[in-house]
Amino acid sequence: MKIEVKAIGTVLNNIKAETSPGVIKEQVSIIELDPVYMQGLKDIKTCEYLDIVFYFHLNQEIHLIINSPLVQDKGVFGTRAPSRPNHIGITTVKLLSVDENRLRVTGLDAIDGTPVLDIKCCDTSIFDKESVHKSIQGENPRIDIDRSILSVNRDDLLYKAGQLHGHICPGIAMGVLCGAEIMKMIYLNKEDPYDYSMTAEQPNCVLDGIMFVTGFTPGKRKLILESGERMRYKIVTKEGKGWLIESSDHNREYINRLLPDEMPKLERALRVLNMDFKKIFDVTELSGTDK
Ligand SMILES: [Zn+2]
Repeated sequence: MKIEVKAIGTVLNNIKAETSPGVIKEQVSIIELDPVYMQGLKDIKTCEYLDIVFYFHLNQEIHLIINSPLVQDKGVFGTRAPSRPNHIGITTVKLLSVDENRLRVTGLDAIDGTPVLDIKCCDTSIFDKESVHKSIQGENPRIDIDRSILSVNRDDLLYKAGQLHGHICPGIAMGVLCGAEIMKMIYLNKEDPYDYSMTAEQPNCVLDGIMFVTGFTPGKRKLILESGERMRYKIVTKEGKGWLIESSDHNREYINRLLPDEMPKLERALRVLNMDFKKIFDVTELSGTDK
């Protein structure tokens, strides 16, 4: 079905060429509405946030798989990329002021001259509710954790892991980072985490972080504790395929160098999340053939 739409206004701002969405969002943009639609702005000031529907007029390419600096090898509908079948952009913006047919907004990621197709009061009620419907949560209680792993939302994982652990510390942050990397490796291989189990030695803050993010728990017989003092985690399938992840002295030197003692605990934990995983841990791939 072919549908014809008409621009109702235009975006005005200082961004004249395509650039990263984050840079454009920091701008204040004006949405200049065609005066024939002026009446439609009545009481718009009651909306704190607006959804702006616009047309990516400079981008005529269509890609169903997106590879960009922000996303790698992802289907277009799971992204906000402009090279989509209908080239439609939708962004939630904050309304700053209204001056006749001009709306001043911030948070819009559309460049100067972008045709605006619609303006809607943003329905934020979903954000106030539980993030996942209970029926889904019942079938897949880890859905929020998996989503955070896949979207690399490590802060969120850290705060949730803190609910299990009782406090937020650099150790649990190391565990969260490690757990997220393990899950990413499993998902990249298109495998089921349920086929893996973990062997660990020292029960400490790091282990709680890994356990929370991966779901390798003793209750599911997915975590075997062995005697020993090393920070060493073996994540393998029944066939012995997987990874050996360990932290040695040179890894700890790297961590200590980046975490000054005087820095508050929470800040140190958040900083760990942005460290280089491969410098915190040594990872050895296990093929499962050698015993
Ligand atoms: Zn701790």
